[in-house]
Amino acid sequence: MSPSSLLERSLRSVWHPCTQMKQHETLPLVPIVRGEGPWLVDDSGRRLLDGISSWWVNLFGHCNPRINAALREQLETLEHVMLAGFTHEPVVQLSERLAALTGHRLGHAFYASDGASATEIALKMSAHYWRNAGRPEKSRFVSLAGSYHGETVGALAVTDVAIFRDAYAPLVRAGTTVPTPDARLALPGETAADVARRAAAGLEAHLAQHHAQTAALIVEPLVQGASGMVMYDPEYLRRARELCDRYEVHLVADEIAVGCGRTGTFFACEQAGIWPDFLCLSKGISGGYLPLSLVLSTGAIFTAFYDDSAARGFLHSHSYTGNPLACRAALATLDIFEQDDVLAANRLLARQLGDGIRERFDGHARVRHLRQRGMIIAFDVDTERADFSRRFFAAGLDHGVLLRPIGNTVYFMPPYVIGAEEIRHLVDGAAAALAAALA
Ligand SMILES: *Cc1c(COP(=O)(O)O)cnc(C)c1O
Repeated sequence: MSPSSLLERSLRSVWHPCTQMKQHETLPLVPIVRGEGPWLVDDSGRRLLDGISSWWVNLFGHCNPRINAALREQLETLEHVMLAGFTHEPVVQLSERLAALTGHRLGHAFYASDGASATEIALKMSAHYWRNAGRPEKSRFVSLAGSYHGETVGALAVTDVAIFRDAYAPLVRAGTTVPTPDARLALPGETAADVARRAAAGLEAHLAQHHAQTAALIVEPLVQGASGMVMYDPEYLRRARELCDRYEVHLVADEIAVGCGRTGTFFACEQAGIWPDFLCLSKGISGGYLPLSLVLSTGAIFTAFYDDSAARGFLHSHSYTGNPLACRAALATLDIFEQDDVLAANRLLARQLGDGIRERFDGHARVRHLRQRGMIIAFDVDTERADFSRRFFAAGLDHGVLLRPIGNTVYFMPPYVIGAEEIRHLVDGAAAALAAALA
């Protein structure tokens, strides 16, 4: 390894995210030089199948020709303008199209750049709504056990993943967690819907006592991603919607990971037949190209801020709010959904992917709780090895797949452009990585 290699330079100057940097003494960084569809290519020409969509953001492959073309055109027209006092076609079109996708129930889009900021915007808007409504004591938040809504200090208030929160606990005004509807918690004879009803009873008990101080419940609809692809029955969302209505508490759907078709419908909430008061999107919305996040909200929320008084307005901003390039990438992404009828195509693709994975891993002596929701498939591995995830990841690279287990949970969340041949490669690579990690 030459001292000036990309890897060495990166370790000297870049502080990598979600990483104990010392681990890179033994586990090398992977210098990526190119992307092609579902593939990443490293500096030695090795091809890696991106089985987790580069942290769940990529939908239609790397260097997608259609998104590239849209961005090139935008680049020659308008790269950026501030959104306070100004507007532009891409941000208006995107807002209109997203509103239409909610059947105009969530007709007001507020923009930021990353997911955690979308969480913070939804929480701030909710609390500010209640303040404007003359009920400032409604300023507490409720989330599910094992929830993940981002890692800024505000978002950590509703994130219940110890490794992300513990070191910063003194900085955080923590919300309350209520039971998760995790389907794995089913008692003998219970269905996933039974678990959902049991968890909803826990939510009800909390709201019955604390609704007067509670602004909002925030949930990851159907799949709690970062705590290990925890899946649950849509019945929970229906009950949560009812309880939030009954106790006058906002429902925030964090669809940052599960939105944009990931679970089978464009928004995961659609599978429960409910709509939230706030809906957060990020990750896939720009096709995985550019940092973009947004919060959709209802007319009732918007109206509560609409006033002659500046202080009643939502005075929140980010420098890159509504960036035209990011919005244009999102429009190109929505175009692909429409032109290719992606949701229909994904029903078939999800079946092929699920069948391929089940064929190989169902019945494996160490595999537990193989589960699927649309284009997300996961299983837990029965192992005592504390370094299982790292060993699996490293072995996966040796077999040409990018898979990064969360603890003992192996999951697959590939871009929507993966073909039959590539599914085979992914499953073979995962099987080899599992054998190596357990050896
Ligand atoms: C990734 C994620 C976030 C945070 O998004 P960032 O862009 O990483 O800040 C929030 N909520 C959920 C459900 C996520 O998966």
